[in-house]
Amino acid sequence: MCGIVGYTGPRAAPETLIGNLRRLEYRGYDSAGIAVVVDGSLQSLKLPGKVQTLADRVAVEWTGTPAEGSRCGIAHTRWATHGPPTEANAHPHFDASGRLALVHNGIIDNYADLRRQLEARGHVFRSDTDTEVLAHLLGSLGFADDPIGALCAALRQVEGTLGIAIVHADRPGRIWVARRGSPIVIGVGEAETLVASDAAAIVAHTNRVIYLDDDDIAELSAGSIEVRTAHNTPVSRTVSQVDWDVRAAEKGGFEHFMLKEIFEQPESLENSMRGRLDPAAGTAKLGGLAMTPREIADVRRVVLVACGTSLHAGMVGRLYFEDLADLPAAVEQAAEFRYRNPILSPRDLVVAISQSGETADTLAAVREARQKGAALCGICNVVGSTIARETGRGVYLHAGPEIGVASTKAFTSQVAVLLMMALKFGRCRRLSREAGTEIIEQVHALPGLVRRVLELNERVARAAASLADARDAFYIGRGLLYPVALEGALKLKEISYLHAEGYHAAELKHGPIALLDPSVPVVALALDVPGRDKMIGNIQECRARGAPVIAVVTEGETTIGGIAQETIELPRCAPLVSPVVAAVAMQLLAYHVARLRGCEIDQPRNLAKSVTVE
Ligand code: GLU
Repeated sequence: MCGIVGYTGPRAAPETLIGNLRRLEYRGYDSAGIAVVVDGSLQSLKLPGKVQTLADRVAVEWTGTPAEGSRCGIAHTRWATHGPPTEANAHPHFDASGRLALVHNGIIDNYADLRRQLEARGHVFRSDTDTEVLAHLLGSLGFADDPIGALCAALRQVEGTLGIAIVHADRPGRIWVARRGSPIVIGVGEAETLVASDAAAIVAHTNRVIYLDDDDIAELSAGSIEVRTAHNTPVSRTVSQVDWDVRAAEKGGFEHFMLKEIFEQPESLENSMRGRLDPAAGTAKLGGLAMTPREIADVRRVVLVACGTSLHAGMVGRLYFEDLADLPAAVEQAAEFRYRNPILSPRDLVVAISQSGETADTLAAVREARQKGAALCGICNVVGSTIARETGRGVYLHAGPEIGVASTKAFTSQVAVLLMMALKFGRCRRLSREAGTEIIEQVHALPGLVRRVLELNERVARAAASLADARDAFYIGRGLLYPVALEGALKLKEISYLHAEGYHAAELKHGPIALLDPSVPVVALALDVPGRDKMIGNIQECRARGAPVIAVVTEGETTIGGIAQETIELPRCAPLVSPVVAAVAMQLLAYHVARLRGCEIDQPRNLAKSVTVE
């Protein structure tokens, strides 16, 4: 999920690789490493921390040695998915001979089975990563003698996503790459060839690039690029021109990280779901949860604790657990939890939700829950984070690094993970296999639905104009869309500095409706899901006070169009997944309002990405 670079050519590889790795720093990562080929052997360095730390180590250990002048190598920034960010887990990883070095982006879903098989044949593993399995597997398939043959055979055995780059001590000047799901770009230079997981890393050297297709394998040298399919058939891939300037490239061509992350959601949702849905059994497979069906059936109550955006995801999760798993569920503000003397028992499962896994209040709630003997589980994005470690079990989001301070893709992945978790709990209790399979179909549809919402970017940008000059705004919703109304209002506050309040649509008339007048717009979440009919009445109430209404409706909606000032039509979706579909539109709306108001979108004032104080 993070960064890969490779270089073969006339220049010194370490300097070039580290320079290019720095251009991937914007993606966020936790450790870095490099391997170069020198005089028939490999030299490598890897460590947790920043590219600068790696650069310093390279300067200290390699200056004046043959490694400094190596002409071929690979390097990596890791965003941990399997195992915490330690030196042992940092890439590159090596095969049993120590002569093959490999860097990998992605996740090998069946790594545990492959590792068991390799261990049974005497392979010794040095890391907790899924990646190391790939290095050993390639070595055992005879990479040293027939690299392409070994790559083809390995691709037949591995499941999951990968972008990989490999060097071998026996073959100086050569790099092998392959991709499935994770991008690999080859830079075609003057008598040099570059590799990266993102064109941003190489556009400073060349703007001629080849994007590999899924299941492509390539053997590279300074003057040649040979691409083959996974069936070992030669193919030619076109050379494209990249005409970004280097700075835009660092945000993948987007104006802001936040927008980039909003647009990444089809992919981040796919990553959160990958390997976790079992349509035949109508359930979800969540290995990190480490609970037997019996333990799950024994849970009497689920308590979701979180702050901010994660709290809103928790509110959606509560409805999922009640609806699918027949389980009483509560959502708790983490900041209050431990000061309230909460009533907990060993049959309560406390689910701590935090993107960073470091949120101080959520961590304190975890500790309080442990003290009271409750069962614990974490939903975090950052692998090896404190909450992930202290809960001891849970489900990672695998959404990739989130850099924008205002959370976007982590929220939608949290909702997807909670839905999968509730599905699994449901299947251990009252939910039928048929119902489970139907839910899986709905979850599978999510990335495609989100893609269609993103196509409405221009439409949402136009709607943003009716909010940009307001001083106050309301967001209203009901049922599963009520938490999304809260989240939509929070996004607007965070990045546009407009005062916005999320309210349950029915609560408006218990007070805040007093504030409505023609200068206070209302964003009404009125998709065609249960509650829509009542929403129509609530929209009428707002209109009767002169408030302009921006209604978010399902395509084909005819009634609301005649009442609201503006309608944004989203694709039709199953009610269970509607929070994700609506949330993406709310993120775009907040983004465009902030942009129109000239705000610092990626560094909103007063906010920090990970809130590690109470
Ligand atoms: N799954 C691999 C790991 O945990 C690769 C992570 C990445 O894409 O950076 O090491």
